Amino acid sequence: MIDTFGRKINYLRISVTERCNLRCRYCMPEEGICKKTHEEMLTEDELISCVRAAVSLGMTKFRLTGGEPLVKRNLLSICKRITEIPGVEELCLTTNATLLPDTAEDLVRAGVSRVNISLDTLDPRKYGWITRRGSLREALDGIDAALHAGFAKVKLNAVLIGGFNDDEIPALADLTRKWPVDMRFIEMMPMAGNTEFGPEAYIPYTRVLEALPELVPVSNKSASGLAGSLPGGMPEQNGVAKLYRLPGALGNVGLISPVNAHFCRTCSRLRLTADGKLKPCLHSEAEYPVKGLDEEEIKKQFAAAIYGKPEWHGNLSVTERSHALRRMNQIGG
Ligand code: SAM
Ligand code: SF4
Repeated sequence: MIDTFGRKINYLRISVTERCNLRCRYCMPEEGICKKTHEEMLTEDELISCVRAAVSLGMTKFRLTGGEPLVKRNLLSICKRITEIPGVEELCLTTNATLLPDTAEDLVRAGVSRVNISLDTLDPRKYGWITRRGSLREALDGIDAALHAGFAKVKLNAVLIGGFNDDEIPALADLTRKWPVDMRFIEMMPMAGNTEFGPEAYIPYTRVLEALPELVPVSNKSASGLAGSLPGGMPEQNGVAKLYRLPGALGNVGLISPVNAHFCRTCSRLRLTADGKLKPCLHSEAEYPVKGLDEEEIKKQFAAAIYGKPEWHGNLSVTERSHALRRMNQIGG
């Protein structure tokens, strides 16, 4: 479907759970979440009805996220059922990777083709601090499992945090020389509940360009192959990321700038929360409930959410916070 601002909406990000085995400081409160009752959450059948409704409106790409999707007991069944739906072209997953060693191959067999893995630091002590309980070793083992499981693409995501990992930009980018992965740096978003960090922590994506002057802009045509400069040195926008490459690297460096250079004009996505709310925009408080509805009614809610998608999310800053009423683990980043 095309929305009121001419954008083709073909991508649905589905949060399968609000729960997580980590507690990243920018995402979740230390005490975890207020557990909702089973009855409040979407059932597997309702989730599949949502995907069918989405496909009937022209959506082709789906991503499972959370919370941590790998803590969801019936995740593999969900994946299999989604990839069996005619019209589903791609199923991807976003994860912290710590549980991937036991699940990566099953996920590939269930039809997941791409995986995005969060990795904010290569320092075990800092990893423990930012996740409040995670082990870097487990995350690295998960990345290793992903690289050997046969996914078509593995991407790593780091949230840029001034005073925490800005000194690691070269080391993180260097992973693209070691492994066939894209390394993407994401500006930290001032979600309503993310009040742990001061203004100095919100650094712009341009800090990556300053730290890595050897980066070469990548054109769309060469995004999965050799790097190629564009006239004027401007990178292509591939999805939400501006793409660059280090000389001799196996993958790209991507810069994702929701705060300092938003990409709302090309946004093609809707979000579905684990408790059955369609969100037309990550940063808007607007939600369209689908819990308890039949497939025809769900389809109407999808259409309403697409037509209700705002033109852009407004300015975001440490003082102008996201209008979303949820923490990131409750939306699905
Ligand atoms: N647990 C999985 C993971 O960490 O990859 C999936 C869910 S997590 C909410 C999805 C993504 O959102 C992660 O890459 C995470 O770093 C990102 N994220 C969470 N809070 C954020 C924030 N305040 N600003 C920017 N990215 C954020
Ligand atoms: Fe969990 Fe992912 Fe949020 Fe970290 S970013 S607390 S891993 S949901």
